[in-house]
This record gives sequence, C-alpha cells and structure tokens, in this order.
Amino acid sequence: MPELPEVETVRRGLAPAMVGARFSRVTLRRPNLRFPFPERFAERLQGATVLDLGRRAKYLTAGLDSGETLILHLGMSGRFDVALPDGGNLSPGEFYLDGAQGTPRHDHVVMAMSSGATVTYNDARRFGFMDLVPTPTLAASRHLAGMGIEPLGEALTGETIARLFRHRITPLKSALLDQRLIAGLGNIYVCEALHRAGLHPALPAGSLAKADGSPTPKARLLARVIRDVLTEAVAAGGSTLRDYAHPDGGSGAFQHRFRVYDRVGEACTAKHCTGTIARLVQAGRSTFYCETCQPPPRPGG
Ligand code: ZN
Repeated sequence: MPELPEVETVRRGLAPAMVGARFSRVTLRRPNLRFPFPERFAERLQGATVLDLGRRAKYLTAGLDSGETLILHLGMSGRFDVALPDGGNLSPGEFYLDGAQGTPRHDHVVMAMSSGATVTYNDARRFGFMDLVPTPTLAASRHLAGMGIEPLGEALTGETIARLFRHRITPLKSALLDQRLIAGLGNIYVCEALHRAGLHPALPAGSLAKADGSPTPKARLLARVIRDVLTEAVAAGGSTLRDYAHPDGGSGAFQHRFRVYDRVGEACTAKHCTGTIARLVQAGRSTFYCETCQPPPRPGG
C-alpha cells in the first residue's frame, strides 16, 4: 500500500502536467472505483483549470478554478501514468507496482489536459477513489474531517507530541498510528522513527510529556526523526517492499535504508549498539525494533 512518501512522490510527478492546465476531456471507463464517481463527475471537471496540487496525509487535492477541489486517493494499488505531449511517458510512483498492475484494462480514468499531457488513473484492486467537494469545505469534508496534524511539516514538534500524547497510556506505536493525532504515518515509518529515537514501541505514549505538559528530550528527538525518515523516503522516491518490486525485478532505493523494518534477527545498525532486531505483534501488526537500544518499559513504571 502506498504510504505518505509515495503519495508525495506521485504529487510531485503529476504537478508539472496538471497545475495551470485545464481538463480538456475526462473519460470514465466504469461507474465507480471504491465508491461511485460523484454525479456528473466528468462534466464538472471538463473546462476547469487546476490551480494547485496539494497533499493531506495520503490524499491528493487538486484545487480547481470552478470552486471545487478534486480529491484523489490511491487506495491499495492506484497509480498514474502521464503521457507527455513530446511522446515521453512517466509513471510517478511506479516503484510500488506489482505484477497484477499496470495493464491497460485497469485504466479507469483518462484525463486529457490542455497542457497536451494525458493523465491516466490505473487501479487493479480499485480501493482508490476520486471525489469533488466545494473548496471552502475541503477540510470539513468526510475524507479529511477529524484528521490529525501533518507529519511532514512544521506542525510536528516536540511540543505538539507532548500535547497530543499527554496522559495517554496507549503504546507509543499505537498513538503514532492514530490518524486522528498525526495523519499519514504508516507502520514502516513508525518502526523506523522509533528505532532512530531509541524508544520502545510499547512505552506509554504519555511518557513523552513531562508532568507540566512540556516535551521530554525524547519527544523532541522523535519529532525530528519522523520528519527525517519521511523526507529521506520522499527523496528516494518512496519505499519499495517485496510485493511492490519494480517490474524488472529491481527494487527501489529506500528499502535498503530500512534499519529495522522486516529485518528480524539482523544486527542493529545503530552506532555502538550490539543488539539484534526483534519483532513483536501489536494490534495485529508487526513491529520491528532493537532489543538493546530501544529498552522496554520498566515493570510497574
Ligand atoms: Zn540497537
């Protein structure tokens, strides 16, 4: 499943073809993806110019001069192909393709832009969706309402973490995955960030706030390393897992930089650490961590 860095990579890949361009012709090849398309979807897009292409957590948002915003979500297997007017072709986010994807029969939406580019949405499993909402109500729309802070930006600080996690006894990892607190963090990047911060995934989340509500040094460190792992993944073009290998059998760059994810039994790569990567299951999902430099919570404390 694409995580936040992949979605950001897709956004950057689409922007040159879409921002400032008008939808000349929009063709829907089926009535629905995960949800039915909104009423008169193609007609509402046609003639509208894309003012900006943003991202909120794992949602792409295209602001239109018609006063509406197009919301795009890639679901499990959604991807875009961009046919450029010069005959070139690019697939931002191609790194998470698997063998079942990429065939033309999964091309569900074809958007011809006034830039001369054609943007095609392909989704083999159809868990993705598209919606149109009035721009002034975007933040309150059913997709984005109640969503936590953005992890790849200025909002995430030690202070924010302390404020959000204070008094919470839930495990730190669960709190980081709670989309109502921080939106868009997935399993891989939470494991990586906790390792870099030297924090055990089962620590009570509230332990990152001091009694007066101010952040502990670890809270500040965690805010920084979350941004670091996401920024590095965006720079590498997103993560690549085994089931999202390149069609040519190669793999993306960031996979090799995972320090704990899917590395159970391997030596910890942290400086001066002689520990081993272990796995535990929390809320049905695998957590990878170092038994030595991410010490467990003290009994009773
Ligand atoms: Zn270690």
